[in-house]
Amino acid sequence: MARDPLQTYRNKRRAEATPEPAGDEAPRNDEAAAPIFVIQKHDASSQHYDFRLEIDGVLKSWAVPKGPSTDPRDKQLAIETEDHPLDYADFEGVIPDAEYGGGTVMVWDIGPFDNARGADDNGRVKSLAEAWADGHLTVRLHGTKLTGGYALTHFRTEGDKRQWLLVKMDDDAADARRNPVSTADASVLTGRSTQQIADEEGDQP
Ligand code: MN
Repeated sequence: MARDPLQTYRNKRRAEATPEPAGDEAPRNDEAAAPIFVIQKHDASSQHYDFRLEIDGVLKSWAVPKGPSTDPRDKQLAIETEDHPLDYADFEGVIPDAEYGGGTVMVWDIGPFDNARGADDNGRVKSLAEAWADGHLTVRLHGTKLTGGYALTHFRTEGDKRQWLLVKMDDDAADARRNPVSTADASVLTGRSTQQIADEEGDQP
């Protein structure tokens, strides 16, 4: 029997103590729908951006300390983290300080994406799941702040954590001067800043 991909997610969290999704909802099974990506700004003990891609019914996830860039010359460290449930994609709120991942979560960007990987020598295109397992993903994002191609490449492993590099591909959406991480610092779902999310959601159980 296949291992439950969300077991690690659940093991790290106390469902009764965090407002995050419990991870027990059935995965979406609409095969025709485009997969979604989300980038969540996470103001935890060290601030980072959680980059997530829907692959095989879960959100494959990376923590990107500096956030995504629109400059193809930037190579942003992306540390692989545990798979998250699909319904995490629109989670925005405050994880209590005492809990795993304690801090404020903002939905920084969200939208559909597609596999931008070209065919190999045999004319075959690797699926997203195969590309993730092999450590080299090429995706095209259709977000509000980020569009166009991004490459994610596994380049080293520390302990049991795969470390990847997230790099903007040099296409029409590449722009060395844009820097949306600093200029577009509000939720795409609610327009709120991290401080507003903390103020409005911080006291909920
Ligand atoms: Mn995080």
